[in-house]
Amino acid sequence: MAVTPRGTSPVPPDARPRLTVLSGPSGVGKSTVVAHMRKEHPEVWLSVSATTRKPRPGEQHGVHYFFVTDDEMDKLIANGELLEWAEFAGNRYGTPRAAVLDRLEAGEPVLLEIDLQGARQVRESMPEAQLVFLAPPSWEELVRRLTGRGTEPPEVIERRLQAAKVELAAEPEFDETLVNTSVEDVARELLALTDVV
Ligand code: 5GP
Repeated sequence: MAVTPRGTSPVPPDARPRLTVLSGPSGVGKSTVVAHMRKEHPEVWLSVSATTRKPRPGEQHGVHYFFVTDDEMDKLIANGELLEWAEFAGNRYGTPRAAVLDRLEAGEPVLLEIDLQGARQVRESMPEAQLVFLAPPSWEELVRRLTGRGTEPPEVIERRLQAAKVELAAEPEFDETLVNTSVEDVARELLALTDVV
């Protein structure tokens, strides 16, 4: 049995988590935080997900997502090629398994930015993963972001708010919580957690 000398950290640096999962309620600003962090630190490797969603203007295949058909997604799932996948707002999203495992085997840190259902699956299949919850600064702020320009019907907004309440309740399942007060601060905190520095 290994004995830890008194006064030193019981966790050697090479035993720190290497797979970091950033998740949190929809509308909280996960992708903004990740984009900001990678602008400053492009060396942080972010998994590119497969999705059946159509590309938004400016989104590139293989960069923002791998845009796939329903049939292609069916095959990825059936062949076990996804580490996790979930349906979100009528589209399916999943993390390609091989690319993530290759990076981890090479000893490189990996970051996933996925929804809560996906984060739970990663916890099940890779319990050593570090789960980071991005929380809004306040409930009012999340309401403000979710209601946006107020162009959606009240019942749609109500449904999104109900979903957000359920999503916020997941926070205790996570190892770390970052509060999205400022993009710069949270990006810095996330960088420290991803173990790149
Ligand atoms: P969007 O359509 O706005 O790009 O993403 C919608 C949601 O899907 C976001 O919460 C995003 O984090 C999540 N998402 C993106 N990729 C994946 C993935 O590979 N797996 C899961 N479970 N969620 C994902």
